[in-house]
Amino acid sequence: MSCPYPTEAFTIHTSLLFAPHLKTFLPNISILISPATGLVVRTYTRSTPSIPSPLPLLDIDLTHLVVLPGFVDAHTHIFLHPYAETPALHQILHESLVERTLRAANHARAALSAGYTTYRDLGTEGLGAADVGLRDAINRGILAGPRLFVATEPLASSGGYVLRVENGNVRVPRLADEADGVDGVRAGVRRRLAAGADVVKFYADQEKRNARYPETETWPGALGVRYKPDWGDKPKHYLLFSEAEMRAIVNEAHEAECPVAAHASSPAAVIRAARAGVDTVEHGQEPSDEALEVMKEMGTIFVPTLTVMEEEVPEEVVGSMYQHTYNAWKVGVKLACGGDIGPVAHGENVRELELMIAAGIPVEDVMTSATLHGWEACGGAWCGRKFGWLDVGCAADLVGLKGDPRDDVESLRRVEFVMKDGRVCKMDNKLTI
Ligand SMILES: [Zn+2]
Repeated sequence: MSCPYPTEAFTIHTSLLFAPHLKTFLPNISILISPATGLVVRTYTRSTPSIPSPLPLLDIDLTHLVVLPGFVDAHTHIFLHPYAETPALHQILHESLVERTLRAANHARAALSAGYTTYRDLGTEGLGAADVGLRDAINRGILAGPRLFVATEPLASSGGYVLRVENGNVRVPRLADEADGVDGVRAGVRRRLAAGADVVKFYADQEKRNARYPETETWPGALGVRYKPDWGDKPKHYLLFSEAEMRAIVNEAHEAECPVAAHASSPAAVIRAARAGVDTVEHGQEPSDEALEVMKEMGTIFVPTLTVMEEEVPEEVVGSMYQHTYNAWKVGVKLACGGDIGPVAHGENVRELELMIAAGIPVEDVMTSATLHGWEACGGAWCGRKFGWLDVGCAADLVGLKGDPRDDVESLRRVEFVMKDGRVCKMDNKLTI
């Protein structure tokens, strides 16, 4: 760890700084930062664009860049790498804990380099609560990486989210902490909290009956099933929990000031989860005006994960999902940017922003979804640290772009400067970690 680490307070000078609460860029802001706490001590507007000359030794001049709060990816899997490289089944079944952990360390670096200072990491996929150890290693300064808010294992009802192998004698890693009934799911939440989860994730629906018709090429030489059912390749999602169970999950987590994320594909699952009071709905890819209305009414944050959908679902479904996401914004549903990164490469996180902009959502709203709303998705005040905007008392997480995303979307990929908790991680387009 060789982040330049001054001991005295220093100032970062900007010419254009994004303020998510106002959804606008402010001119000529300077930010005083304490390296001891990693927090913003003071911000002030300079009367002119010029900065002190000569520049005080520790100060940083970012007036040539467009500066934003560090990005938050609200849906990631730090232990996964692209399914196009290695399908999920094989990553989970065959890769060792050591390999997956070392890959995670590389992913953490790639994320920081892309300007992502926070990850809401929604499940290890077969590694139990290993994300807790990784989070703590980053927080202890052992490893450079985004601030992690982790889910450990998701909750699912019995058999709801399992690794599908046809040889029942093979012992496979579990993908979910299984819980049933109101008392059962309360116990499940308690187990997750005890394991160290920052956020409780549950599966509101899943393709739980996919064992009826095996996919082809599950292993080399596997035969496909003849005469497929008439629902074709479209996955069928079935609800995993009753209304009472979902409400119990939310209540138990919220009593411990822990946010809840619900994986939900079908409108029925989105609606049931949102009505139960979850903080965020993940995916929600099947268009439904009623689902949008319920999310709006309940104040649910919608994380449409367009990035992974672009990879995994048929083109016509993706197209309707862009429209659905735009409609969500239009009717006033709060959106957060989360790409379901892992199945898509870490470091490509900004794709989610590009897709939301391409869907027609204004750049300033997308920037807010990638910063402030990310903090809210992590639990807001329950996080114990403010991030996602730059004001007194907030974590000094900053990204400096070469170019203005308002008229040059590609500038989102020209990340020249990254700071996390007052430490420089990237300067002049070079990692310093
Ligand atoms: Zn995911």
